[in-house]
Amino acid sequence: MKIKHLSIHHLQIPMRIRFAQSNSDAKRSDSVVLRLETEAGTVSYGESCPRPYVTGESYASVYKDLATIEKELYQRFFESFDDIQEYICFDLPNRIGMAAICSLELALLDAWSREKHVNLIELLGGQIRGTYNYTGVIPFGNTTKLKPIISRFQFKEAKIKVNADLEENLERINQMKAIFGPEVPIRVDVNSDWNFATGLEQTKRLIEQNITCIEQPFDPAKDGAMAYLTQNYGGWVDIMADESLTTYESACRLIQNGACNRFNIKLSKNGGILNALRIYQLAGHHGIPCQLGAHFGETSILTAAGLVLASIASDLRAMEGGMGTFLLERDVCAQPIMIDFNAQIKGEILAGEYGLGVKVEDDLVFQKVEVNAIKDISSFSLS
Ligand SMILES: [Mg+2]
Repeated sequence: MKIKHLSIHHLQIPMRIRFAQSNSDAKRSDSVVLRLETEAGTVSYGESCPRPYVTGESYASVYKDLATIEKELYQRFFESFDDIQEYICFDLPNRIGMAAICSLELALLDAWSREKHVNLIELLGGQIRGTYNYTGVIPFGNTTKLKPIISRFQFKEAKIKVNADLEENLERINQMKAIFGPEVPIRVDVNSDWNFATGLEQTKRLIEQNITCIEQPFDPAKDGAMAYLTQNYGGWVDIMADESLTTYESACRLIQNGACNRFNIKLSKNGGILNALRIYQLAGHHGIPCQLGAHFGETSILTAAGLVLASIASDLRAMEGGMGTFLLERDVCAQPIMIDFNAQIKGEILAGEYGLGVKVEDDLVFQKVEVNAIKDISSFSLS
């Protein structure tokens, strides 16, 4: 398989609700969509959500990274699937960012599967499930405003964004318990907002509230502080790495430091399906359970890729995302891949599909968003 043309597009689609957490506050999505065309005429798409506070990447850095490998991409011939794997997992991670890799990887896998007529899930040794259950992620915000939106979904588990203010967090936890019911397990995501002292106090209090998981309590550089929580409280509550977990090397480091007892894998920050699977397998080898996370504003491309991953990684503790046009004002395809009000996606939509199974429409990718604040040109072509 040989690449004939690549183009990169910056998607900034308005969201129906503002998505705020302790290290970000967004009203629009912020995704990269990569469109790939092969010599044989196959058209495929990849997506990533570069986040400065996770991998240090942005749309501009992804564009720059992909521009640095542009020549070799046009010269390269992918003779086998192993060629793609080798390039994505062992060559590129030393040279470009993980979100940049993700957007390219998803497009390459999509193209390979379509062009060779091989089912991606079968190729990777997975199996389509009957249903994929998603859990809710609740951003900061006025509960009165959020309630009518989130209470429509039958989430069997929810995650609340929290901050360094314990009383505020406890109040929001109680409000969410009132909305979802006391039997729905609740996780919290700190997005690195705690210092060590705050972390100790809040962890004890949150365990009393039966919180099941604390995600990324400290700055990603502070493995030691997270390891302390894991060693002392990990029996009562999962301590999960998110922003700390980006490359395969970071996963090795977290394991070596005993920093956490749960991984939040996200395709975008972990370099796509193949790199994420390497981390998942490493975690399994060390007895660390994983869940699939998502960045706000993911389109159907990343949701579909998440379903592929979940079809291979069969014991994920939770799946997040899949909000589609419940969150975005529009998607990149006419029939978005997204959860229903039972917070599920049916596996049947994956059956008999080649590629990621998303029918992306160029018009929807190329469409510029009419928002005054957007300064960037929303689309670049690499050649
Ligand atoms: Mg997180």
